[in-house]
Amino acid sequence: MANYRFGVLKGDDIGLEIVPVAVQVIKTAVEKYSDITIDWVELPIGYPSYLSTGETLPEETLRTLYSLDGWILGPIGHMAYPKNDPKAINPHPILRRDFDLVSNIRPAKSYPTVPSIHQNVDIVIVRENNEGFQPDRNMHKGKGEFMPTPDMAMSVRVITKRNSEMVSRVAMDLARQRNGKKKVTAVHKNTVFKLGCGLFVDTCRGVSKAYPDITFDTAVVDTFAMQMVMNPQKFDVVVTTNMFGDILSDEAAGIVGGLGMAPGLCVGPDYVMAQATHGSAPDISGKNIANPYAMVMSAQMMLSWVGNKKNDASAIKAAENVQTGIEKVLNENVFVTPDLGGTASTEEMGKAICEAIQSI
Ligand code: NAD
Repeated sequence: MANYRFGVLKGDDIGLEIVPVAVQVIKTAVEKYSDITIDWVELPIGYPSYLSTGETLPEETLRTLYSLDGWILGPIGHMAYPKNDPKAINPHPILRRDFDLVSNIRPAKSYPTVPSIHQNVDIVIVRENNEGFQPDRNMHKGKGEFMPTPDMAMSVRVITKRNSEMVSRVAMDLARQRNGKKKVTAVHKNTVFKLGCGLFVDTCRGVSKAYPDITFDTAVVDTFAMQMVMNPQKFDVVVTTNMFGDILSDEAAGIVGGLGMAPGLCVGPDYVMAQATHGSAPDISGKNIANPYAMVMSAQMMLSWVGNKKNDASAIKAAENVQTGIEKVLNENVFVTPDLGGTASTEEMGKAICEAIQSI
């Protein structure tokens, strides 16, 4: 008997529409497994939390997260938060850093009925999450960006052996688990960043020695970006540093149908956070038309992750059923949202996914 405690942090804008769908889909998927129970713990975050508690990341939310097996975080629309209020902070860099969520796993998968530039694409980008160029999380104190004079800005890029090792291990393990090409490509720019990217690639290569069954290769980021647009089918798992991964994962989403098709999972040694790649999409918020795929599949990845961690066959199977159910809905191409060429609402697509899971 496995009992999980999962947090529900809806976030902002379309988060209020897609996170409830993701929760409902996971509830439906575990329904048929009597040996799984889930306690869902709803916690305040983002602008709705600011309105009710005066903070976008209340202490109570942070404290509770430490007691959970994982949580779903909806997109955060921090660009719309009040400026100059120290309580209106962007919560997600803090969560990624405080919970040591070093690896951000971002799959990009094409489906025959989803309008996309390419077909037969199945790539996973594993992005380092907490260092690189990201100034809001790459320093112990202060920020990794500063202005020595009014006319000069400097940004510090941080690469450590520890985090490089962690992301490359996650990438190698994924390549081993997946039914793919059993290949990991480390993407870098060591032609210029001889020390930073040099350390990253050398570390990845070192980790790859423990995985003789996985083909390891490397690619320079600019060439890789071009190859991914022209011939994405040749890649399997990709591991890279923070900023390159941020950009390349949006590019990969664009190749398979857009940001609504881009799920993500942030993982560390102890915690896991389901977080789609896309933002809070204020332009479509409140219209019930956001594509729930990315959020649902992020939650699916979380269930699979904790299932694998606890060796829980039922959780792993329930997660597989979510994948099967969502594929059925996409392939039937009826209850899909406008970004996929359909007319279904977010709720209708969510209901269709639940029914597809129940019919398995
Ligand atoms: P965005 O990802 O919110 O939207 C970009 C475009 O993609 C928009 O046209 C939007 O309608 C569309 N889109 C995004 N998700 C969709 C979905 N599920 N279904 C259908 N269409 C979808 O990026 P943005 O507009 O640059 O940013 C909006 C806010 O989100 C900003 O405050 C930004 O800082 C924030 N943001 C948050 C995250 C995060 O929480 N992880 C990531 C990126 C941006």
